[in-house]
Amino acid sequence: MTGNPSVSPWDELPVRDELRGKSPYGAPQLDVPVRLNTNENPYPLPEPLVERIAERVREAARNLNRYPDRDAVELRTQLAKYLTDTSGYEVGPANVWAANGSNEVIQQLLQTFGGPGRAAIGFEPSYSMHGLIARGTGTGWISGPRGDDFTIDLAAAQKAIAEHRPDVVFITTPNNPTGTAVPPETVLALYEAAQAAKPSMVVVDEAYIEFSHGDSLLPLLEGRPHLVVSRTMSKAFGAAGLRLGYLAAHPAVVDAVQLVRLPYHLSAVTQATALAALEHTGVLLKYVEQLKAERDRLVTELRAIGYEVTASDANFVQFGRFPDAHEAWRKILDRGVLVRDNGVPGWLRVTAGTPEENDAFLDAVREMQCLVGDTPTPPKEQSS
Ligand SMILES: *Cc1c(COP(=O)(O)O)cnc(C)c1O
Repeated sequence: MTGNPSVSPWDELPVRDELRGKSPYGAPQLDVPVRLNTNENPYPLPEPLVERIAERVREAARNLNRYPDRDAVELRTQLAKYLTDTSGYEVGPANVWAANGSNEVIQQLLQTFGGPGRAAIGFEPSYSMHGLIARGTGTGWISGPRGDDFTIDLAAAQKAIAEHRPDVVFITTPNNPTGTAVPPETVLALYEAAQAAKPSMVVVDEAYIEFSHGDSLLPLLEGRPHLVVSRTMSKAFGAAGLRLGYLAAHPAVVDAVQLVRLPYHLSAVTQATALAALEHTGVLLKYVEQLKAERDRLVTELRAIGYEVTASDANFVQFGRFPDAHEAWRKILDRGVLVRDNGVPGWLRVTAGTPEENDAFLDAVREMQCLVGDTPTPPKEQSS
């Protein structure tokens, strides 16, 4: 034992200065009947797919004495085919890279294009992991602006890029936690601004694109070698437990991330499981259609109850406004439903679940609203 007994061992650990006093990512994992807080797909994988996974993993198990395919060629080929089939924009395996969740994809991108002495920008509120992974990779983080209606205010965003000249620009569309889609014209204008300022890499995070009313921005990759589109199997594919994310970009970007990826980072079991899932995209995308309908129902019913709701292109809905969002979160939890308090003042986020789960959520918020003092505050007049 060394040091002052009033100082905890944590305080004495020689951790990097920029990590001191910070909190890790931590959505509560509580055991309650209805969990609508982490944007997971509520439907378990269909049984024929479970069988196919078992089959492919059994084959992979016979070769576990060997390292996996380091370049994951078969998987990247099938991911490219999925992207091409669903977007109409031709993508090949040389354009695709995969890792353990899109969080690892983002980490590899920041290790390659960020790092000490460099900076990344996101337009907040947005996905908190962009900033956290920036910090973990020693990349500076710039919190860029968003409008009062949670859309990206193009002029303000262009100004922030020109002023800070970031090395990496994150654009999340549909955005988490607001559900807001970013129009392709805005992405193009921000890409131009980023090229004029630095030039920097622009990462379009399309984790929720399968749930969108609009199309993927993949076609924007044409002729734009500094653009990256990142995707995941965690949401639409209902495979959050698998940990599989991927990107599409110019082959030079795929070559560049090879410099930082750990050798054999994607296990043979992961590759086999993801390949099985990619054989079943048809049925998985049918669940997505049901979830989109439920998402739209949540928007309509929440508005009918009197809540303010941000238009959503994702599998979740942001609703408010609450004088005290955390208090409201607690009251919904008391009724057996876990939603998410992302720290956006006045707002909460609910993931679209099964029709039964969504009914339970709607009953909980209706009941809550009947209590005096718990009514949402009326929408603020927009100033423009
Ligand atoms: C959920 C989410 C991800 C997915 O992360 P995985 O590591 O693939 O599970 C990525 N980006 C955003 C914006 C998300 O909300």
